[in-house]
Amino acid sequence: MDTTQATTFRRIFQVIDGNRKAVGDGFQVTSPMPGPRIRQLSPFLLIDHIGPMAIAPSETPLGSPPHPHRGFETVTVMYQGVLAHRDTAGHQGNIGPGDVQWMTAGAGLMHEELYEKEFTRRGGTLEVVQLWVNMPRKDKMAPANYQDIPSTEIKTLPTADGKGTIRVIAGSYEGVTGPASTFSPLTMLDVHLPKGSEFTLKLPQDYNVGLYIVKGDVLLHGNRPAATKQLVVLGWNSEEAHLTATEDSIVLVLAGEPIEEPLATYGPFVMNTNKELVQAIADYERGAMGKFEDEE
Ligand code: MN
Repeated sequence: MDTTQATTFRRIFQVIDGNRKAVGDGFQVTSPMPGPRIRQLSPFLLIDHIGPMAIAPSETPLGSPPHPHRGFETVTVMYQGVLAHRDTAGHQGNIGPGDVQWMTAGAGLMHEELYEKEFTRRGGTLEVVQLWVNMPRKDKMAPANYQDIPSTEIKTLPTADGKGTIRVIAGSYEGVTGPASTFSPLTMLDVHLPKGSEFTLKLPQDYNVGLYIVKGDVLLHGNRPAATKQLVVLGWNSEEAHLTATEDSIVLVLAGEPIEEPLATYGPFVMNTNKELVQAIADYERGAMGKFEDEE
């Protein structure tokens, strides 16, 4: 990078390490958000990075057994392995490397995410990033929905130096529009940068911007390193940020207009008030978020 240029890049607010946790009976997760160092990167609420983990061949698929959600969307970005999903709104499917599943919990549903059967029999490596994306107050009780986005539907752009690849999952980037439909203006990019490549990211100045390093090592603005499983939170002083890949890297760009509304969260529910949380728990307990037929 030519460091003498006059461009001002977005200020680097934070470089955050993830906390390790277990989810369900089959996911080893690193999670940089939420956490004590960052309240939110609105509209993005949570990042769960599953693996990469070795799955030994088995007859029993593990994962995250049935659980409810209300008031937001879960976005599952697959890197390695295959997951099987089903929910009580009647959607089900398998997602593999490069695929994205964009699930709108809205008014509420139950869902289950397990290793896919054949993948479990064979064994292999599993690596997935799951995001929680908030919904505006006016849409929180929208009907549950499911966008199954196969890898082939995600358009790509080369980086300006021709070395890297930008996959546009949601929103628009350099005139290319991603397949996901969203409730608030946001841009989600899966950027693959081979070692030695450079990338100048340009997004609306008033967007919150987070860079999650799925894999590799990058140099921000030519001088600040960020490594695998770190989340970089950028400021609003400029439209641009600059990355140099010092190893083969994958960076998930999470950017969007902040939803300026109060947040009330409890476990799998994200609402605006405590009263709405109490209602969500009551609705869940009386079975209003659905039930799988084979459940007890
Ligand atoms: Mn879930």
